[in-house]
Amino acid sequence: MSEKPKYSFKCLENECPQRACCTREPVTVTLGDIVRWNEQDYLSHIVPGVVIQMPESDTDALILVTARRQLKKDASKTACVFYHEESNACSIRYARPISCRTFPLQFAGENFVLSNKECSGIGKGEVARDALKEARNTAELEFKERLETEKTLPGLYTVFMSLMLRQSAEAMKDLSDEDRKRIDEIMSRRSSSEEGQGAESGD
Ligand code: SF4
Repeated sequence: MSEKPKYSFKCLENECPQRACCTREPVTVTLGDIVRWNEQDYLSHIVPGVVIQMPESDTDALILVTARRQLKKDASKTACVFYHEESNACSIRYARPISCRTFPLQFAGENFVLSNKECSGIGKGEVARDALKEARNTAELEFKERLETEKTLPGLYTVFMSLMLRQSAEAMKDLSDEDRKRIDEIMSRRSSSEEGQGAESGD
């Protein structure tokens, strides 16, 4: 959908009845977000809430997203793991991903669109010329970072996975016979317990 001639929006912050920004799916994270968190020294605090979402079809990309958790007030729904339900606010407000900073405005490559029409802030306030320029710049940057992340992430993922596999193969080589025997016992205990569970559930 194309942007209306006048972008009218005001974030209702913790007065927002829906928090469409925090319940939307997925809440994407870019490599630019990772760089900013690292520079601001927030990385170790935020990264545990970021996960890799594997593609579900040939047209999907490998992406970084925030983890999700069930809403207490409605267990059928989930929200971003950084959404603090009690205060109806983002717990990383000042370091939130660029996809949240640009929400609900999005750049689609040629034009600006509203990525979510459910957002309660749409139509709630005039956006001054300077603020609109800034919002458009953020939306364009988000678009650029999102595309770069989609292009770069598969290569990075392959590099890190092969590194981890190599490291675990090295660690296995250094194990004593006794440690190997212990691991074999643990693995065989685990597989017989899984088989038992499968038999109980009729799998
Ligand atoms: S990071 Fe914050 S603003 Fe963004 S979706 Fe999560 S809770 Fe909402």
